[in-house]
Amino acid sequence: MQRHINIYHLYPAHLNLYGDRGNLVALQKRAQWRGIKVNIIPVEPGSKIIFAKCDLLFMGGGQDSDQKLVAADLKNRSVEMKKAVEEGMAIFAVCGSYQLMGHYYRLQNGEKIGGLGFVDLFTEAGDERLIGNAIVECMLWSPSKTLVGFENHGGKTFLGPSVQPLGKVVTGFGNNGQDKKEGAVYKNVIGTYLHGSLLPKNPWLTDYLLQKSLEYRSQDSNLEDLDDSIETGAHQEAIRLAQSRRHKRQSTRV
Ligand code: GLN
Repeated sequence: MQRHINIYHLYPAHLNLYGDRGNLVALQKRAQWRGIKVNIIPVEPGSKIIFAKCDLLFMGGGQDSDQKLVAADLKNRSVEMKKAVEEGMAIFAVCGSYQLMGHYYRLQNGEKIGGLGFVDLFTEAGDERLIGNAIVECMLWSPSKTLVGFENHGGKTFLGPSVQPLGKVVTGFGNNGQDKKEGAVYKNVIGTYLHGSLLPKNPWLTDYLLQKSLEYRSQDSNLEDLDDSIETGAHQEAIRLAQSRRHKRQSTRV
């Protein structure tokens, strides 16, 4: 039987910064090249998610105003979503969505956007934006592999003791510019500040998500090797950029 993966894409009209949608293209292509069928189902506030059919949930980054807009809709889905997460459903959440996986995101004016609370983390807006290309040593594999992506966030995220970071910051700011942690992993939920798009130039993370999605539905998760010379070249070039350009902290004080 042909393998298949259903990817639910949450709020494409609201959460899509710095090429985040490219993550879907990477997932789709790398699956199709191996004969795996992929359906991408866009979900806007109010539309239905059939969790029994959702193998992977993807959410991109967004501005504070858009995060506010989708937060209530997301909360309405939290019970079903939490159940699926505990059973092993994979979620890949970038930046603004990553923040919404945690307890809350407190804006500069003190207003709190409530998150799903699946992942033990919270986010506080600082008075500067953390911008640049980041290199991360990612511990999802042993030995570790490198991830490289672009970050631009005002929120600073802090992980609770029970949560593992996605990786250790080599260059850039990561979660908060202080503790050298980037992203978070809880079961098969991966949150990260890295845009870019991230997945096309970090194909090992794409494959990781595909494998978790297949395993969740007890499908064969063996992925044959692909010719990754273009992807690896893009990865190396992004690393060169990250190492050669200064990262900046840009004040958001008025
Ligand atoms: N609005 C959030 C912040 O500034 C997330 C931004 C983003 O998704 N790039 O921290």
